[in-house]
Amino acid sequence: MPDVLSDIPVNFDSAALRQRCHVATDSDDAVALEALVDQARALARPKALYREAFIEERGDDTVRIAGVTFTSRALRANLDGVERVFAYVATCGAELDAIRCHADDILQPFWLDAIKSVALAAAKAHLAKHLTRTYALGRTASMNPGAAEASVWPIEQQKQLWRLLGDVEGLVGVRLTESCLMVPTKSVSGLRFPTRIDFQSCQLCRREICPSRSAPFDPRAWAKVSSPNGSTSPR
Ligand code: SF4
Repeated sequence: MPDVLSDIPVNFDSAALRQRCHVATDSDDAVALEALVDQARALARPKALYREAFIEERGDDTVRIAGVTFTSRALRANLDGVERVFAYVATCGAELDAIRCHADDILQPFWLDAIKSVALAAAKAHLAKHLTRTYALGRTASMNPGAAEASVWPIEQQKQLWRLLGDVEGLVGVRLTESCLMVPTKSVSGLRFPTRIDFQSCQLCRREICPSRSAPFDPRAWAKVSSPNGSTSPR
């Protein structure tokens, strides 16, 4: 049974949100944005859940964790020498979906997206702090199905992650669509694990232009997890 973290504080900083949304102070847009932020303050319930699990078996491209087999050459390589992982989901919370934007304002959906991102960031930070404190973790890294290039850890492996975690929708309100996307969309799922070297999914992503890139593409890391045909996961 996974542990649920539901009492997560979140600080919606109006000035930071105005800056992020490129809204001028004292403008009409600032008033409209603040109205959305006020609703978020009343409604937001970011959440996370996680499960501690142990690795049972390793194949060339697979790793079995608590009875669930994941297939990814990169995941297998990152879990070399690792015995314990933490499967997790963190979310902004479905409660924020109750906020309605004005139908004739094309900017408000983007503002709401930024507001939800703040709630998700709070859930992620709270979970990371909780795991570090509870399990006395040192350096950790995380992998997420569907992050980086499609073949690194295919998004379809969300189904295995959900099998490992159990009733994610019942516990924290995050459901998987048929194409394995999460709803609410401002949710993140993955496996966190101890590591001696820094790892970020962006290191295994060759996309040239991405405003969210957090680490440069690492050809050596890519070569380590690629087969001769350039694929990172077996068919
Ligand atoms: S570079 Fe961009 S698309 Fe690629 S993994 Fe990083 S954030 Fe995702």
